[in-house]
Amino acid sequence: MAQNFITNLQHYLDETGQIPANMLPEARKMASFLTALVESVTSYPEESKNGINTGLTCPVDRCTGIVGGQYHGYIAPITWKCSKCGSEGNISNWQHSTWDFTDPDEPENLDLLKEAFNHFFNQSDLESGLPLFEGPKKRGRKKAPSKKFDHYLQLKISLENTKPSIWRRIEIPCTFTFWDLHVAIQDAMGWTDSHLHQFEVADPLTGHPLFLGVPHEEDFDPESTMPEWVVPVSSYLTLAHRTLAYEYDFGDGWVHKITLEAISKREKGVSYPRCTGGRRACPPEDCGGPHLYEEMLDLLENGTQSEKKEMSEQLGPYFSPEHFSPSEVTFDDPDERFKMYFDDF
Ligand SMILES: [Zn+2]
Repeated sequence: MAQNFITNLQHYLDETGQIPANMLPEARKMASFLTALVESVTSYPEESKNGINTGLTCPVDRCTGIVGGQYHGYIAPITWKCSKCGSEGNISNWQHSTWDFTDPDEPENLDLLKEAFNHFFNQSDLESGLPLFEGPKKRGRKKAPSKKFDHYLQLKISLENTKPSIWRRIEIPCTFTFWDLHVAIQDAMGWTDSHLHQFEVADPLTGHPLFLGVPHEEDFDPESTMPEWVVPVSSYLTLAHRTLAYEYDFGDGWVHKITLEAISKREKGVSYPRCTGGRRACPPEDCGGPHLYEEMLDLLENGTQSEKKEMSEQLGPYFSPEHFSPSEVTFDDPDERFKMYFDDF
């Protein structure tokens, strides 16, 4: 079966940037594969933009397929795919490694992005050299991603099919995982996190959709939903791939478009995440989705007396659809939310 490998090269290297001598054989095999792949792709970045045959054998056990590699620009993960079994993967944090052969004078935004990619989560799952997908039982989030970060991502969150648009602008640490981002979106928008949610990103290799969220306990399938708490936002949201979608409440179907607007150096004295802008109130939970919400607002404004009364009862006497102020947003600790969420099961 095709497997999906999301890897962070730094997790395979010691402080000196080399593959540690005492690494277990399986992890060593993966480390050798990843470093060789980074070397062959970065030696020919121009040619590799459309994908090149690296001549490397697939890392999947017993597969003899040859792997193609692809370069997506200096700030993006390198991707690969096996021609035989269809397994594929991406490699983040390859920049500045011994195997990075890109021209040091070339890269755009070099110093800025080096930092952004240098603070991925610290966890040991990758030390086994195996894919991260070990099922929801082993949840992987042993500790919070490093609280140390030098850059933040400025994101715009817009709720699709709302007019005028309901949107927020937030700044999050570059170390945030998709779980952390989920919590930040909920808090910035004003949702109560009481329905299912899911992120959809484009596979940098194929352009096909990939999903991140809370995988279902029983039918765990790594190809359907990746556990969002082990994947850094910056593995998919890059200056080369600036947008992704976040859906909240599959019944009402609130789709949020997330756009990476900028990566900037954090400011002293500011606590992140923070909300710096936005417009219009969050729709009430369970109001039926964007189209019904729009109709409700229309009736509230232009309906008959009894319609107005009914809408005001449904939306609540204090509901003011045009109201929003960034200073009213408070962000919960994503680690606390994680504990709360999983203790409920
Ligand atoms: Zn293969």
